Parts: sequence; structure tokens; C-alpha cells
Amino acid sequence: MKYSIILILSTLIICCSTDDKVPNIEVNDTNNKSKNSKLVSGKEKIKFDNSNPEMNTGNESFENSQINIKGNPTLDTPDNDYLVGKTSFSNDRGFVLVNPKHCSKSMYLRTQVYEAFIKMYNTAIQEGIQLIIISGARSFEHQKSIWERKWNNLNSTSPKEKALEILKYSSMPMSSRHHWGTDFDLNSLENEYFESKEGLKIYNWLTANASKFGFCQVYSDKKVSDRKGYEMEKWHWSFMPLSSKLLERYNRKISIGDINGFQGSEVASEIGIIENYVNGINNCH
Ligand SMILES: [Zn+2]
Repeated sequence: MKYSIILILSTLIICCSTDDKVPNIEVNDTNNKSKNSKLVSGKEKIKFDNSNPEMNTGNESFENSQINIKGNPTLDTPDNDYLVGKTSFSNDRGFVLVNPKHCSKSMYLRTQVYEAFIKMYNTAIQEGIQLIIISGARSFEHQKSIWERKWNNLNSTSPKEKALEILKYSSMPMSSRHHWGTDFDLNSLENEYFESKEGLKIYNWLTANASKFGFCQVYSDKKVSDRKGYEMEKWHWSFMPLSSKLLERYNRKISIGDINGFQGSEVASEIGIIENYVNGINNCH
């Protein structure tokens, strides 16, 4: 009798360990981890950064603690600091920490943007496309560190030339759409990656499908879309239902005199940073 019970229990354990008996969420997570390492390629090495202790809580507790936050109170706040990246994403209820399975390092996005991304991600993965966010919301301080590192590494003759060189692919602090948490970079920061093999497959999928989820490649080919500003970025996608509202608000509330507090800010006006760069987008209409 004792042995029969052991036999029955053993059979149950073996049975429940097979993939088709495991709840779907677990199966997907396992598959996604292996696909992450297999499908994400390109010049840069993409590895998930586990250094942030907030990220080590496990997927289940992450889902419970983060994804149920609704609403977007930041859009209703009267001050303008969040438009220029001067907000703490971790303390802002309008933002949510991205699940490690969707990104290459610890990052935040606006909740509604992340929810739309999850829908797009789930559709894409069913079609063999693995989307990975490699950069999400970035604060003023973060953008300042990127900008000033590039600024100090350039030997151009004038501050204006320096700024224009950096502005090919990087934003001046206080003028980045990444401040808003509505925009993110996917899979690789090289246009070349998206021009062959896996990268081309991903890009073709995005151009055919991203708009169904509200996303637009705002830094499109300048030869085609007749816009000013940054060079084409095949990796940068924006959630237009929110970012178009934030752009409108930015244009009403932020003026060129507000752009300061970092090296090279004195050329912001001469370059027309708001007119040519903040507004230098393809709106996908
Ligand atoms: Zn970007």
C-alpha cells in the first residue's frame, strides 16, 4: 500500500513536469529566455543587467506589484518638469518598471505605453519576432551624462558644430522624447542591423504592424518624410496616442530659455533645438 502511494505520487510529479501541464505563463517565460539569447544580435552585446535589486523579485511578484497600476496622473500635473526629464520615474505612479523579459536592462516606461508594448510583443512573438527594449524612459540627468560624454570626446572647432555632430543620433538634454516615457529603442542602435537577416525581419514586421498598437518610427528616412532634425533611427519607436499630446504640451509650456544646465546649452537657440529637433518628426499620418 505504502509503495502504491509512492508510485502514484511519482507518476503525478512526472506527469505535471511535462511542458503541456505547466501553466502557460511559465512555458512562455522559459521559451522567451532562450529566444532572447538566440535571436537578439547586432553589434552591441545585449545582456540583461541584474545589478538593480528591484529587478530580482521574480516575474510573478513583478507582475503583481507593477502591472496593475493604472492611469496616468503625470499628464495632469501642473508643473512642466516631467516634460524635460526632471522627474523620478520610480516615484511616479504614471510609470512602471519594465519586466526583465521585455528589456535588456532595468528601465521604466509610462504604464499605458508598456501595456501597448506587451500587446505588440505578444503578437510579434507568435510570428517568430523577438522584440527587446534596449532603452526606455531616460531622465534629464541620464541624458545629460550621455550628452556631456560625447561633448567632451569631440574636438570640433565650435560649440555649434559639436552639438550638430552629437545631434545626428543623440538628443540634447531637456529635448529628448525618452524623457516622456512614451518612446523606446528596440533590439539594436545600428540602422545596419535592421537591413539584413534577423534585423530586417524585425524591421519589416514593425513597419507592417507597429502602427496597429499605436507605435510610430518618428525618426524616419528624411529623404522620404521631409522632416528636419535627427538622422533616421530604425530602432526608435513612439507611442503616438500619448507622445503627440506631450509634444503639444511641450510646445505650449517649454521655451528655448528653459533649455539649460548642461555643457553646450548655449547653442540650443542657434540650432533651433525645439523647432528642428523636438518637432523634427514623422508623425506617421
Ligand atoms: Zn531612442
